[in-house]
Amino acid sequence: MLVYKVIKQRFTPSQELYSMMETFRQIVNECIRIGLDNNISTLRKFSSNHYHDLKKYDIQSKYKLTAISQACVRLAQMKRSIREGKTPKFPYIQRPYLVSCYGFKINEMLFSIPVGDRRYINIILSHYAQAILLDKSLKVKSFVITPDSISLGIQKEVKEIQCYNAVGIDRNLRNVTVGNHDKITMYDTEDLPKITYRTKKVTASFKRNDYRIRQKIYSKIGNRRARRVRQFLNRVSKDIVQKARESCSMIVLEDIKGIRKMYRKGNGQGNKHRAMMNSWPFYELQRQIQYKSAWEGIPVRFVSPVCTSILCPICGSRTQEDRFQHRQLWCSSCKKLMDRDVIAAMNISYKGLQQFCNPSGLSGEVMKRGLDNAMPTILRVDGSKLGLKV
Ligand SMILES: [Zn+2]
Repeated sequence: MLVYKVIKQRFTPSQELYSMMETFRQIVNECIRIGLDNNISTLRKFSSNHYHDLKKYDIQSKYKLTAISQACVRLAQMKRSIREGKTPKFPYIQRPYLVSCYGFKINEMLFSIPVGDRRYINIILSHYAQAILLDKSLKVKSFVITPDSISLGIQKEVKEIQCYNAVGIDRNLRNVTVGNHDKITMYDTEDLPKITYRTKKVTASFKRNDYRIRQKIYSKIGNRRARRVRQFLNRVSKDIVQKARESCSMIVLEDIKGIRKMYRKGNGQGNKHRAMMNSWPFYELQRQIQYKSAWEGIPVRFVSPVCTSILCPICGSRTQEDRFQHRQLWCSSCKKLMDRDVIAAMNISYKGLQQFCNPSGLSGEVMKRGLDNAMPTILRVDGSKLGLKV
């Protein structure tokens, strides 16, 4: 199985490189225009019919080819959106950039980009990138340069680990609960709604009625929020994947695609509640877990979210909500009060085991495993302090 990852580092391009990026941007926009005029969105058709239209641009032909493919991707995306009944804008590239998968060289700490006449522009790689590229099984497949960064796309051949164990992940607003019948870890994510709330307060305090300045400030604050959230989830997902690798377990998640539809305007919920529910980055955590575990060869599987936080993980009967204790469920046949998120994580791991590790076995077989161990040990981890290793 081939897996991909991107290494990104800060980088300010030289004047020569910047003008190449600008030319590249112009070519992509020109290709988009030609594609729209002639209704072409495939690389092959474009290259055979319209490659000569790009003669006027002074750049190496390999960059022209990647520019065509970049334009084709955007045209195909637009076509897909139209098919889905949306009304997309015409694609247009505003920032200069450069993408290529041909002709570059890597020499330990130097990354060299061809600029024509057998000349190269050298970029010093960061220590982080150098450390990753020491692994000789990795292949650098492409690079992307933007006005403030350079990203290298790397590829690796990974063998998927054979797993006989599963950890379930229950995501909700206040915490992320990970585990199975013998160990549960709870990551406290209370800080995430706080970050969003504070960002909202700051943007709301902006009173000046000037669209241009407002847009600038909003994007600056919004980017900061996105970076903070990503960084926070990065620690959580890293820890989850590391523990899954140590215990040789597959990761099981709930398939909650379309959850945002539950919190749309007109669904009878308050504005604040909807804003809070929609602020939780469900997908970002999933994305990080998916790419990190793919890199390690850990399988990630999805199960249906039906009944995961209702049924008792020990006996399988329906639980009742405790009226006095928040988020606690009572199982009348086991005579036990259990945390709702722990129940969900355990049920998700059982479902995963049942569907993906034990396809021929009986469904009761897996459920019985819970009976041997009464309740798992619960470890609580504050997500924001993960870097300090609790
Ligand atoms: Zn029970």
